[in-house]
Amino acid sequence: MPKLHVKTFGCQMNAYDSGRIADLLARSHGYETVPDPLDADLIVFNTCHVREKAEEKLFSELGRLHKRLGHRPVTFAVGGCVAQAEGEVVLRRAPYVDLVFGPQNYHRLPLLLDRLARGERRLRDTGPPPESKFDDLPEPRASGRAAAVTIQEGCNRFCTYCVVPATRGPEWSRGVEEILAEVAQLTVQGVIEILLLGQNVNAYHGRDRQGVVHDLALLLRRVALVPGVERLRFVTSHPADMNRDLVEVFGDLPQLCPYLHLPVQSGSDAILQRMGRGHRVADYEAWIDQARRVRPDLAVATDFIVGFPGESEADFQATLDLVERVGFDHAYSFKFSARPGTAAVALPDPVPEEVGARRLARLQELLNRQQLARNQARVGTVVPVLVEGPSGHRPGEWAGRAPDMRRVHFPGPANLAGVLVTVRITAGLPNSLRGEPA
Ligand code: SF4
Repeated sequence: MPKLHVKTFGCQMNAYDSGRIADLLARSHGYETVPDPLDADLIVFNTCHVREKAEEKLFSELGRLHKRLGHRPVTFAVGGCVAQAEGEVVLRRAPYVDLVFGPQNYHRLPLLLDRLARGERRLRDTGPPPESKFDDLPEPRASGRAAAVTIQEGCNRFCTYCVVPATRGPEWSRGVEEILAEVAQLTVQGVIEILLLGQNVNAYHGRDRQGVVHDLALLLRRVALVPGVERLRFVTSHPADMNRDLVEVFGDLPQLCPYLHLPVQSGSDAILQRMGRGHRVADYEAWIDQARRVRPDLAVATDFIVGFPGESEADFQATLDLVERVGFDHAYSFKFSARPGTAAVALPDPVPEEVGARRLARLQELLNRQQLARNQARVGTVVPVLVEGPSGHRPGEWAGRAPDMRRVHFPGPANLAGVLVTVRITAGLPNSLRGEPA
């Protein structure tokens, strides 16, 4: 049986695509997925283009692996957003790469591998495919009790710093029945937690067979009816695509977990405008207030970019003030990274590197302090934890996710992976909780 290794960089959508690539090549060529690339006959790099660091990481890992493999015959394939945006560059900088394919084209991998087998070399498939990749994918193979399902891809928002519209294309939504079928294929394999994925998931507007357009709120209600779905999540939303229905679903859909990832990026309206985010800070806070009113135990996560061109000390202070006002359970924060092909590259008033680094450190210090305090406030609560596996912290300890996405570590007997365990929280830690079986 030929061996496949898939290396994934970046977002959950790339992780989902990597899983589907493995499903596809198992069906088409009998590939068995292996954890060690040194054992593989085919190595696929599924790449991320969001920050320069991610791209450079790709080339250094590619080069290192190629060296370690020596002369052993291996097929190298590079997919994902770097392949889409810089396919020619990949083939030039890594001449041993045999195949480059875009995130919308991986369903064509079997055909591309057959062409390589017939002697063709250095193939590139990044054009917009006429067919949807989902039309040709096999049934998903579940690994564990939680699984992701892509419902929407691409983006029409063109935030000035973002490469996604260029690498993933315009926004499109999968059909309702197609999504429900994939969810059902997963729940019959024992999956109880479904994560609905989209670059702009709350812009979802798929149709059912009757032609009825579903927004995310309506789709969530239909997915919750699929037998076996006990926990439901969705990422990543955009404040400008929030609506009242989506807020209300948090109040009356018991399967919907109390977790909302809503990137805000900055606390300054002037910077939000420069980013092209299409909403004001006040709109953002209003949505968080509404959602917390219908779901008081809601955990709110967000994203921040500091050091955006033109960001003054006052703009940055506005970001810190927003953090103090809202109170975030979790946040991803980054220093602005100018990406080729984005409008932000040409924006005036760049923020000096050291200023950006200092601001990021101050913001992260505040976010970490806030997150620890909010984790400590969970002590004494009792939560159902879906166990992912051994915690790796202490022997005999397990770890998994509470409904609000917090990671929980607790001691327990053997073989708890995939089990829903009721845990009493005994400690709040910087990035997780500790507890004991209740
Ligand atoms: S909403 Fe903005 S940041 Fe998000 S994927 Fe679209 S362009 Fe990128």
